[in-house]
Amino acid sequence: MIEKDASKQQGVQALVDLLVSANRILARQRIVDGMGHVSVRRPSRSDAFLLSRSLAPAQVRRQDILCYDFDGQELTGSGMRPYLERFIHAELYRAKPHVKAVVHSHSPSVIPFGVTRTALRPVFHMAGFLKDGAAWFDIADEAGETDMLIRNSYLGKLLARSLGDSACVLMRGHGSTVVGDSLEQALYRAVYTEENSKLQLLSCALGDVRFLSPGEAALASDMMDASMGRPIDLWLSELGDFDKGQMSAELLATF
Ligand SMILES: [Zn+2]
Repeated sequence: MIEKDASKQQGVQALVDLLVSANRILARQRIVDGMGHVSVRRPSRSDAFLLSRSLAPAQVRRQDILCYDFDGQELTGSGMRPYLERFIHAELYRAKPHVKAVVHSHSPSVIPFGVTRTALRPVFHMAGFLKDGAAWFDIADEAGETDMLIRNSYLGKLLARSLGDSACVLMRGHGSTVVGDSLEQALYRAVYTEENSKLQLLSCALGDVRFLSPGEAALASDMMDASMGRPIDLWLSELGDFDKGQMSAELLATF
């Protein structure tokens, strides 16, 4: 029994550690700054997910990771301040069973595509996952004048519906959200959505762009799904040793 408990604790801690590292990688890659967040669906309980308390991603440690249900209610019982936009994560997990991780950011090069509704398409093989283009969401169409935040379940549901089968949804005047079938894939996609946006802006300034064809994009996407361990390992190693803190007993108790 003691061995079983120890093994469970190790499994939970490995997931929490990966989420802590994902927060810090996104900050190092300048996908997030003081704002933005990343979550992962609970493997053992698919109706809940892990997300930090309201905190800049570069400061996230183990004790900041909390568990939420799809109504955005905290199951950990800490009472710590949550992200206002946790409903982005909650409603994407509710609507899309294949989604295992979500990154929401305001990474700057993506913003011009959202405000002009210019199609974001793969300009290089690293962004083959954009093969279906990015989806588009305008909060004003649904809710009139707002502070642009997805601050309730209603708006979260509308955003989730707008994603369709895409890996990324542009949020007009706000940012973007990417999904993945693993935390590693969502992390990779968040970084390369920003990279592709930069390169598409540069390429379009030079002349007519020949984007990857749908077939090229699909093949490149499969190739990178099999190869993304390399950049992920690099980003993890670049974090070096840092004080990860202590996982809370309340979080472990929810597993
Ligand atoms: Zn936001």
